Amino acid sequence: MIIISSSGEMQAQAIQLRQKSMRIGLVPTMGFLHDGHMSLVRIARKMSDIVVLSSFVNPTQFGPAEDFNKYPRNEGQDDRLCELEGVDIVFRPSAGEMYAKDHSVYVEEMDLSSGLCGQSRPGHFRGVTTIVAKLFNIVLPQIAVFGRKDAQQARVIEQLVRDLNFPIKIVLGQIIREPDGLAMSSRNSYLSANERERAVGVYKSLCIAADLYRNGVSDTATISNRIRSSLEKECRPDSIDYIDIVDYMTLKKVDKITIKSLIAVAVRIGHTRLIDNVVLPSEDNQY
Ligand code: AMP
Repeated sequence: MIIISSSGEMQAQAIQLRQKSMRIGLVPTMGFLHDGHMSLVRIARKMSDIVVLSSFVNPTQFGPAEDFNKYPRNEGQDDRLCELEGVDIVFRPSAGEMYAKDHSVYVEEMDLSSGLCGQSRPGHFRGVTTIVAKLFNIVLPQIAVFGRKDAQQARVIEQLVRDLNFPIKIVLGQIIREPDGLAMSSRNSYLSANERERAVGVYKSLCIAADLYRNGVSDTATISNRIRSSLEKECRPDSIDYIDIVDYMTLKKVDKITIKSLIAVAVRIGHTRLIDNVVLPSEDNQY
């Protein structure tokens, strides 16, 4: 496994690999890796000859009051995990490497980014689409793997690839959870013991929603209300950013779950913002 910090060197390697007809699979991350990330590496490993994991805490996707400065980092542990899973290249650039002082070009998705997390985190998706477009141009992958944990991000990236004609196949991996159901996240490390116990309520509330749907309730107002009461009881969140039920493709709110829909929640427990989601009717997750 090699670790590259220069974007020029990464791009030169990628060009060489492609000249040798190697299939490059990219897994973009912000580091502090857990099994959710590694599940994406396993998908990339199966589908490509060379797996590149990028590790970059991207400043442009954090708002001024957000956790950019205290975002957790552990490069040694990340490298060990990558080595174990057969990652070929870790691309870990510095912020200066990715953004010149006079950087002035951004990529912005104008529709799917507006609701859900886009509402509570203005500018977030502009940062995401910009860094992902840059990573695509530097790593030159044929395949890029993202997690369904960030369902809105996944749709925004699919749109980015379609609308800007990136010749890249986007593959989505299912949400990997802790044994009690909490979706794995680097940010879970912020939670105190008490907050960690409450955090499992996020997943429980989504399970209640899925059960209601299976029992014939498709009215989204009823389902949202049940999610809210469950969250308030189990999670006692400091705030609820949103509980939204949207069409999976358009991310627009729906009154009834008739076609593939995304139930997404974002809550704050203490200072930690947690997101989770479920897709109904539930799909057989392929991976
Ligand atoms: P992050 O490092 O949090 O920016 O995440 C990097 C990638 O890993 C994104 O595509 C996330 O959706 C994905 N990811 C994060 N947590 C999970 C999880 N629990 N299960 C599956 N994928 C995840």
